[in-house]
Amino acid sequence: MSRRSQGCVYLVGAGPGDPELLTLRAAKLLGSADTVVHDRLVHPAVLEHARPHARLLYVGKEGGGESVRQEDIHTLLVTQARLGRTVVRLKGGDPFVFGRGGEEALALEAAGIAYEVVPGVSSVAAVPAAAGIPVTHRGLAGSVTFATGHRAEGGPDWAHLARAETLVLFMAGDRLEQATRSLMSNGRAATTPAAVVEAGTWEHQRVVEATLADIATRAREAQLGSPALLVVGEVVSLRAQLRSLAQRPVASGGSSFLKAEGSHE
Ligand code: SAH
Repeated sequence: MSRRSQGCVYLVGAGPGDPELLTLRAAKLLGSADTVVHDRLVHPAVLEHARPHARLLYVGKEGGGESVRQEDIHTLLVTQARLGRTVVRLKGGDPFVFGRGGEEALALEAAGIAYEVVPGVSSVAAVPAAAGIPVTHRGLAGSVTFATGHRAEGGPDWAHLARAETLVLFMAGDRLEQATRSLMSNGRAATTPAAVVEAGTWEHQRVVEATLADIATRAREAQLGSPALLVVGEVVSLRAQLRSLAQRPVASGGSSFLKAEGSHE
């Protein structure tokens, strides 16, 4: 097949959840795509931007398991593009923040497929913000470290993470206990304020706040699930003063986190 007839793949960030946090460019591309390949973390309302006859292909992972192998996603993107289709590969948050978007871009590069990356609002700052936590704040934190609790090989460098001013830990879900213990054994004070935000900016957002020593237990008691971010640092204490943020509804017509918070704090 000649290069000219090939389609293009757009690696598009869908934002953290709330469908109104989609970029204009993402909405526009969705409206012109022949094929949309999407993940679990994408809000269903985002898919309403797709054309009525677009092919919607779900390749999400359930409960930590992998329903579609990464290599198969690469093959799917390449095949669809070679059929001359305009493909939107829609990923939660930003495609290049822990989303394996880099791997997909490399695969497209290797296959000689035209592609473009469309940034999205990453959960890294948007989710703490939705919970009333500014990730930086003059006098409290001048830097943010974001890391994942889940590493293909070896664990994260806990000694380094323990020194972060603000730490945002992705994919912390079932490893909270281990993560918080590792931070404390590497010198982070047990009294450091911490929060776990589940499904930030979604209608069902929930927040649990406690000290680093207690956060894992509190999150377990509240049965917080995925997706969730752990935020550790003095900035978490600002939540108490940012009450107006709590009154804002999250997602379209959703409940405020204050409501969820009431039953978990
Ligand atoms: N590319 C995404 C991250 C993908 S990795 C981004 O930029 O946001 C998936 C992890 O992101 C989840 O395990 C969770 O830790 C975090 N995450 C994504 N969306 C979230 C949300 N709405 N609320 C809480 N955590 C979220």
